[in-house]
Amino acid sequence: MFFISKQSRTEKAKLDIVTENMREGAILLDEHQVVLFINPAARVMLGLAKTDHDSKSILDAFRRKFKGVEINQCVTTASPGKPFHVPEIEVDSEIFQIFFSCLSKEDQVRYNAWALIWIEDITEAKMLERRKSEFVSVVAHQLRTPLSGLKWTLHMLINGDFGAMSNEQKTFLLKSYENNERMIALVNDMLAADRIESGRLKYTLLRINMRDLVENVLFEVFPNAQKRGLKLDFACIPVDAKFMVLVDPTKLRAVLQNLLENAVKYTLKGGTVTITLEVVGSDVRVLIRDSGIGIPKNQQGQIFTRFFRAGNAIKTEPSGTGLGLYMVKKIIEQHGGKCWFESEEGKGSVFYVTIPLMKAEDAYKQI
Ligand code: ADP
Repeated sequence: MFFISKQSRTEKAKLDIVTENMREGAILLDEHQVVLFINPAARVMLGLAKTDHDSKSILDAFRRKFKGVEINQCVTTASPGKPFHVPEIEVDSEIFQIFFSCLSKEDQVRYNAWALIWIEDITEAKMLERRKSEFVSVVAHQLRTPLSGLKWTLHMLINGDFGAMSNEQKTFLLKSYENNERMIALVNDMLAADRIESGRLKYTLLRINMRDLVENVLFEVFPNAQKRGLKLDFACIPVDAKFMVLVDPTKLRAVLQNLLENAVKYTLKGGTVTITLEVVGSDVRVLIRDSGIGIPKNQQGQIFTRFFRAGNAIKTEPSGTGLGLYMVKKIIEQHGGKCWFESEEGKGSVFYVTIPLMKAEDAYKQI
């Protein structure tokens, strides 16, 4: 006879309560992809009948529901502690995200099992996000026309098209003009962020030398840096290298502009901003280093989030949208690159951007 101790029974009861009442679906597979466990939520999600208990019925139902999600491939791509994530899969107006977790080596030994499929129904959250995004898009579009109208009226007034004005009147109008420009920039950023979020941003890829783009952006930022009393340095490693990449030049230009303008904006008079272009492995790496205000440690995790601005930045520069870095990261990732930073409050920051270099044979061949 087989006895289960009272303690084990209680532990099992606790676990049963958790797995049976979870909203997320959980399926445990062994190394031969035999289903060892499936909880009620996963059964409902997969539309399994009460009689479907065998692995084949369960995995067939999974494949029917989540077409194109290859269990084997997803499981082998996951590594212990780093689940493979299918972020958004839409099935009959429901939206799911799926995580494929690979168990740690010790757990594999202990349980002789190696993968957990975790399914979350994210329909509600995604719908809310879409409605919010539609709302932002409608509001931003509606704001654009009157703001543009206002811009031209102010422009004509300042220009004296409706008669001469006193210097005091002109000063006030110039202030209104600048504020209006800020609102236009915000509206444009909101629309661009929304296009990125919804995947509607189109990319036109061209072969370029990153060095040309960086020099171009530096040229534009230089007057502002000078006005603010900053030293602007540029270095290429190796000095005479060509940094051929396949990118959307307009978008990449916006990325570099944003990072450089931030470095200038958040560095106090007398400081230095250095931009370095270098080849690291099979990537071009751009470093934008400043000796500015830095980013407080406790806020560094939120820096790439939409609308986030650190407290010290708001104090130094009240105008800002907190949208730039969100877009920078998305655009870089769309190019197969990475973006990250290191920063210390009061000492400065370094923003890193990497973009894959074109293979030599592609970089120079005729197209
Ligand atoms: P914005 O500059 O309009 O606020 P961004 O999205 O470009 O928006 O940047 C988000 C936030 O990241 C900034 O508000 C600031 O807190 C921080 N940040 C970005 N770049 C720097 C920098 N070079 N030095 C210090 N803080 C920075």
